[in-house]
Parts: sequence; structure tokens; C-alpha cells
Amino acid sequence: MSDRVRNIAILGSTGSIGRSTLDVIAASNQQLRVVGLTANSRLAQLCEQARQFQPTWIVAANPDRASAFNWSAKPAHAELLLGSAGIEALVARPEVDIVVAAIVGSAGLSGTWAALEAGKTVALANKETLVMAGPQVMQLAREHGAKILPVDSEHSAVFQALEAGRRRDVKRIILTASGGPFRRHTVAQLAQVSVAEALAHPTWDMGPKITVDSATMMNKALEIIEARWLFDLEPDQIEVVVHPQSIVHSFVEFRDGSVLAQLSPPDMKLPIQYALTYPERWDCPSPKLDLATAMSLDFEPPDLDRFPAIGLGHEVARVGGTAGAVLNAANEAAVAGFLGGQLSFTEIVPACRSVLDNHQFEASPTLEKLIELDNWARQEVTRWVCT
Ligand code: NAD
Ligand code: MG
Repeated sequence: MSDRVRNIAILGSTGSIGRSTLDVIAASNQQLRVVGLTANSRLAQLCEQARQFQPTWIVAANPDRASAFNWSAKPAHAELLLGSAGIEALVARPEVDIVVAAIVGSAGLSGTWAALEAGKTVALANKETLVMAGPQVMQLAREHGAKILPVDSEHSAVFQALEAGRRRDVKRIILTASGGPFRRHTVAQLAQVSVAEALAHPTWDMGPKITVDSATMMNKALEIIEARWLFDLEPDQIEVVVHPQSIVHSFVEFRDGSVLAQLSPPDMKLPIQYALTYPERWDCPSPKLDLATAMSLDFEPPDLDRFPAIGLGHEVARVGGTAGAVLNAANEAAVAGFLGGQLSFTEIVPACRSVLDNHQFEASPTLEKLIELDNWARQEVTRWVCT
């Protein structure tokens, strides 16, 4: 174990990644300490987490919800901050060593941005940040000497496998995908998928948005784009293979043909912990691979006709510019439309395609432009739903 306690702020502590991060911290023998927690809607749960983990600050991201909430259960010592300004103030505090970016969607951008600007190490679960503004975010991290460590299991696997060789000797990476609950569905069956079916993932237990993204395979599209910026790879160096058991989390192939993989049972505590302890490895509360029990590992190519999101991911990774922000926002709005019953499952990806094709592309946008297009793309999807 390290000789110094690491102080952690968790953005999105009430979500699936946030709760797994707290499990990792609880098992760390006080080597990891919570100094800040943030939540959007589950404020009673936030107070309960604050009672257990004793952070110095808690942030209620939505000021209206915060003012309607009875804070009598908040521990007295925890200072309450509000809104995006509260999140931005928290991540810049000198007491914070590592920021876990676990807010879902483009709402996660501003906190991650503020953390990088303050030169912090960011354990990045919020892939949407890199999809939306990959070059800008990576540039900001370089300018401020901040580190971005991946939490996404595939990117953590690639990050670990990359340590085996020199960057210039990397030929390609292969991201694994579970294929989601509809891996064997026909196009006709996909059109009939219900919200409850889409929310039942076979191998991973995650928040609703990423669970739907996994079912459409848009999650893999977002991960192709995430990998492109995070590892500075050419889009044609990033491939996808379907691996239903979710044991191999990704591969790196070097120029001599050696392929390295990272394996572990599907549980986010391991990649979260590695981002918090890097470059050290500590005992981890996640389940271990049991090779004494018979198992098989299957791999098959993705079906790009039934799951057109993957093609969209490669295309957006190739063109860059404003395309990532538009794809991301269109997808967030389309998934919300599907969960709200206004859009069918098979309309999600075509809605994204249509918004992407109709946007005014710019190759080198400012952050303001990306945020403007994020809003525009959401409205376009709403229009698409209504026509
Ligand atoms: P979730 O829905 O379970 O949790 C989301 C968290 O974000 C909650 O704490 C919520 O309070 C907060 N939040 C939501 N909207 C907000 C807003 N507008 N402002 C501020 N806070 C807000 O999501 P999750 O599954 O934990 O995923 C979080 C992120 O991690 C996503 O970007 C997802 O793609 C990524 N990720 C998740 C997993 C996983 O296993 N769950 C794996 C890899 C990557
Ligand atoms: Mg992933």
C-alpha cells in the first residue's frame, strides 16, 4: 500500500459507478478517503453516504431540488454546495487528489473540465466527455499537467495492456463488447423490444442510460471515440469483437503479432480501483477469475447491419470536429425518448444518424460551439420524435 492517503471527490456518488467507488474506498483500510460527494436527484441517499463516509463537502447538483429537500439528515460537519458552480468549486479544492468523474452524459463535462483545469488526476468513467470534446479535453489535461485515467473497463484493459510495450509498436486495439441482451435478435424482433427488456443487461449492472447504450451497441460506438482520443489512435486501429462472457475486457496487438489482454469477472470495482491506486495494485474487493471451473470464452465479429451504431462510432471517430458532440447529444435525447415511450428501440440509432447528417460540421470547434450543438441536437431529436 502507498504511504499517503489519497483524497477522493466522487462526482455522481449515488450512481452505479459512484456506489462501486464507495465500495472500493470502504475496503481500502483508510488508504482512500472521501472528501467530496455529489448527486443530482437522490439527495436522501447522498446524506446517507455522507453519514457513512464523512466527506468535508457534499454537492446537490440541482439547486431547485436542493431547496425543496429537507436536509435534517445531513451530517452537520459536511458543507453543502449547490449546482455546477458547487461541483466546480469542490474539484478545485487543494484537499482533493483524485476526482472520479461518474456523472452520466454531457452533464459530466463541466466538472471534469474544472478538475483538469485545476491539474487534478481524473478517474474518468464519464466517456461522454471525451466523445463530446476529446481533443479539447486532452489538450486541457496536457496544459495543466493533469492525468486522465480510464475507468471504463475496456479502456482500463487497454491502458494496462499498453504497459507491455512501446506506444509506437502498437498495431491496433480490439475492444470487447458483450453484445447486450439482443445479440441474437432479428431486425423484426429488435423493433419490438420493450424498455424493461432493454434495461436487463446479461453481464453488467449499470445505470439506465448506459444499459440502453449497451443494448443498441451505441456504448461501443462511444467507446471507439473515447479510445481514439484517450490513446491518440487512428480510428482504423480500433476494432470491436463481441465477447458475450465479458471476461476479456479488451486486447492490444503489437507490431510483432503479440496480443495482450486483461481478464477478470465483469465487475467495475477493479477498473475503478486501478484508476485510484495507479501505478500501484492493491487487494481488491471484486470477484476473482476462477480458472479451476470450466468456462468458455467466445468471440465473434459484430453484426454491423443489425447494430449500425458501431459504424456510426467509426465514422465519427474518423471525422472528429463537431460530430462527437452531436452524436452524443442526439443519443442522450433519443435514449430519453425511448425510456419515455416516445421512440421505439430501433429508432434510436436512425435518429442519431439523421441529426448527425443534418448538422453544420466544423473541423475545429470551440467548446462553446460544442455546447451550442449539444443543445441543438437535443432539440432536433425532439423534433424528429414529433414528426
Ligand atoms: P447512473 O445513472 O447510475 O448514475 C449517474 C450519476 O450521475 C448519479 O449519481 C446522478 O445523481 C448523477 N447525475 C445525473 N444527472 C446529473 C446532472 N444533470 N448533473 C449532475 N449529476 C447528475 O450512471 P452510471 O451507470 O453510474 O454511469 C456513470 C458514467 O459512467 C456514465 O458516463 C457511463 O457511461 C460511465 N460508465 C458506467 C459503467 C457502469 O458499469 N455503470 C461502466 C463504464 C462507464
Ligand atoms: Mg465499457
